[in-house]
Amino acid sequence: MAAPERMAEASAARTPDRFDAIVVGAGFAGMYGLHRLREMGLSVRVYERGGDVGGTWYWNRYPGARCDIESQEYSYSFSSDLQQDWNWSERYGTQPELLAYANHVADRFDLRRDIRFETRVAAAEYDDASRLWTVTTDTGETATAPIFILATGNLSTPQLPDIPGVGDFAGRRFHTGDWPREPVDFTGRRVGVIGTGSTAIQAIPAIAEEAKHLYVFQRTANFSVPAHHGPMTDDFRAAAKAAYDETRRLARTTPFGIARFPAPTRSTFDVSDEERQEIYEKAWAMGGQALLFSFNDLLISEAANETAAEFVRNKIRATVNDPEVAELLCPDDHPIGTKRLCLDSHYFETFNRKNVTLVDVRTTPITEITASAVVVGDRPYEIDDLVLATGFDAMTGAARDIDIRNGNGLGLRDAWADGPRTYLGLMVAGFPSLFMITGPQSPSVKSQMILSIEQHVDLIASIVGRMRDAGAKAVAATADAQKNWVDHANELAETTLYTKANSWYMGANTPGKPRMFMPYAGGVGRYKETCDRIVAEGFTGFVFEG
Ligand code: FAD
Ligand code: NAP
Repeated sequence: MAAPERMAEASAARTPDRFDAIVVGAGFAGMYGLHRLREMGLSVRVYERGGDVGGTWYWNRYPGARCDIESQEYSYSFSSDLQQDWNWSERYGTQPELLAYANHVADRFDLRRDIRFETRVAAAEYDDASRLWTVTTDTGETATAPIFILATGNLSTPQLPDIPGVGDFAGRRFHTGDWPREPVDFTGRRVGVIGTGSTAIQAIPAIAEEAKHLYVFQRTANFSVPAHHGPMTDDFRAAAKAAYDETRRLARTTPFGIARFPAPTRSTFDVSDEERQEIYEKAWAMGGQALLFSFNDLLISEAANETAAEFVRNKIRATVNDPEVAELLCPDDHPIGTKRLCLDSHYFETFNRKNVTLVDVRTTPITEITASAVVVGDRPYEIDDLVLATGFDAMTGAARDIDIRNGNGLGLRDAWADGPRTYLGLMVAGFPSLFMITGPQSPSVKSQMILSIEQHVDLIASIVGRMRDAGAKAVAATADAQKNWVDHANELAETTLYTKANSWYMGANTPGKPRMFMPYAGGVGRYKETCDRIVAEGFTGFVFEG
């Protein structure tokens, strides 16, 4: 390249609105994406609609919020110094501690200087001639870059229920996924919680401690197992730190990306009824997701699954004093584990409290919400505060909220009209140099997500490195590679029980959304091996252009 061209390019790179990469989102994905690409010498701009870093842990500040994977696993592995310096205080990090961790990472790696907060990306358009993405924000800013990365999260688009009058409630109304920055006091209040998913199951015991009366409006009972949450002891922390190299390596080979849950080898019916019961009891005592890793066919065979499901139902029956309430709390419409298994701290016990009422809104649905009440059938439940723990437009909601168009003017929303289609959950054929971190058809939400985030960011970094080495201006997934990957992901999902639940994994919680199992069901280890092979074989399925 001639000197004047080099100078022109250097000066273009310094222009504020021209970057090597634009990233949307400053949760754990966007934060590591920024750090990793900056380390490679790229100029990066991150846009985040929230006021600070943390993503999930910035928005979900409801009482009781915490992770459901133990903190020594649910954390970044990319920096050994970070791992050694940070001290988790509890077995499952609380939302404040996870947010403090995100802030620590932002400070430590000086991330904020490249992040524009309180700025929502509204649109992005690719130009085939210049091979650049132009991004437009709701503040009227535009920026261009050859690489455009969605780190917009799988559970970042809170969803209001489609109940008539939900906007008419005159008291305090909260969605758990967009909780106020300041603490909310429920003391002396009549509170209604709609929803009994993972979020509600964490929030209900905490709100019940404060509220004068709590009404829980349950449409579908959910399986939940005890977290056995507690402080992280100094000995445990020291041992975890000493073993990090090995546990992180192991985690990458497991189905869920969690070192302590390797792939089980035995079938449910390889053991006697008594032995199976003992195994479940041990898993119950260990807490967390352990139960699902007891046998290798729990998510494949209905008969096997039913043994674990009935074990949990019996625990519920043994915990809840009122037999009618207990039966209502026993899930019976989906196999255990086909919705995210909830972890709780005294959830079922909460229904023994005098100030808590379970309202079954499956038999008699909520008809409307008025200024002061949730009306079930024709019975109004008068409340002061309404908590909507009604979940998210999951996996595709945030990407679809942005008007993303390729060089032919085709929108991502149109390309995905029949459900998301990707290559590896990383790229979409026809949309060059657009990457997704933990997109649909990657392990994503069926994994320890920080591990999956790091794996995707590292994969993007190696593709960008290859672009640089080859002098390529763009990279695209081929239509064939995408078709084969989607077929493979769908075939795998069909061999499991996941498709039997009306879950957000299936898009079933969002009216009008096509039904398909969106995460990759093959597990973290298998997925990583596939990606590693694709890279080793010279980036099969990717075309480097220009
Ligand atoms: P997010 O943290 O969701 O960050 C995405 C960011 O993108 C958000 O800050 C959002 O504001 C921003 N954004 C989106 N669209 C735009 C736009 N158009 N313009 C600008 N900014 C935008 N996973 C686990 O593995 N273990 C757990 O224990 C666990 N617990 C969870 C608990 C809760 C309550 C929830 C909701 C999720 C949980 N998850 C858990 C999943 C969790 O989302 C991931 O672990 C992880 O935090 C995702 O990081 P992310 O950066 O990919 O997405
Ligand atoms: P969710 O699992 O989708 O649960 C939403 C709840 O709202 C369901 O009980 C649903 O009932 C109910 N609901 C929605 N619309 C309703 C209506 N019109 N009437 C009555 N009920 C209605 O959402 P979430 O609980 O926020 O969890 C989402 C995901 O976030 C989890 O699966 C998990 O991956 C993650 N998360 C993790 C943790 C953790 O432990 N670390 C905590 C929170 C969240 P139906 O089932 O009948 O639709």
